[in-house]
Amino acid sequence: MISGRAAIEYLRTLSLFEDEIYLPASRLRKQVEPTSLQLRVLDGAVVPLPNSLAEFEKKINSCTRCSLGNTRTKFVFGDGNPQARIVFVGEAPGQEEDQTGIPFVGRAGQLLNEMLAAAGFDRRDVYICNTLKCRPPGNRDPLPEEKATCRPYLRTQLSLISPDIIVCLGKHAANELLGTDLPMKELRGRVMQWQGMKLLVTYHPAYYLRNMTQKLHGDADFRMLRELFDKL
Ligand code: URA
Repeated sequence: MISGRAAIEYLRTLSLFEDEIYLPASRLRKQVEPTSLQLRVLDGAVVPLPNSLAEFEKKINSCTRCSLGNTRTKFVFGDGNPQARIVFVGEAPGQEEDQTGIPFVGRAGQLLNEMLAAAGFDRRDVYICNTLKCRPPGNRDPLPEEKATCRPYLRTQLSLISPDIIVCLGKHAANELLGTDLPMKELRGRVMQWQGMKLLVTYHPAYYLRNMTQKLHGDADFRMLRELFDKL
């Protein structure tokens, strides 16, 4: 039997992710809760993957691991169907989201709802979350250290939901999951993979609020999403 420390070192040497690794519980069952299906390494500690999104939200919703925890009004975990086959990942909560605790409820959210409906999806059937769970003051861009701190939260959400398709809304989400800063125009319109799930990239709805003439690209991306979904 390997010790907990040796197990952590082993996982680190695998270097699959910077700060978290999932593996079958059988590898470490002796050190942790025997009933968990998967384990994760977070801040050097081996912890069981939560049993549900609700349990996970309860565990992290008073997070102060970065300074945004002190300036937010509400923690914005995510919204929608925990068994969704499509998950949308945005950037970070804005003012309305910070007030309500629900992602994409402001103007960009209304446009997202319309684009979903136009592609034949109901918002209640999909799941929507962000790379950051707390609002950056003044809606500034997320900082690299904030993204790094929130990274295990998003990845755990995606592991728990395990959707067929992930849609990155904008460059921050694409960068976060794909680890690339290729321009959006090179990322959109292609079906990619992330951890065995299909992944599409499209512009953030807030971009169309500033450049309505570009929305035809978003409409095309949502049609592509519909076709991909219909083929599942
Ligand atoms: N923009 C985002 O990226 N996320 C939200 O929740 C709202 C606006």
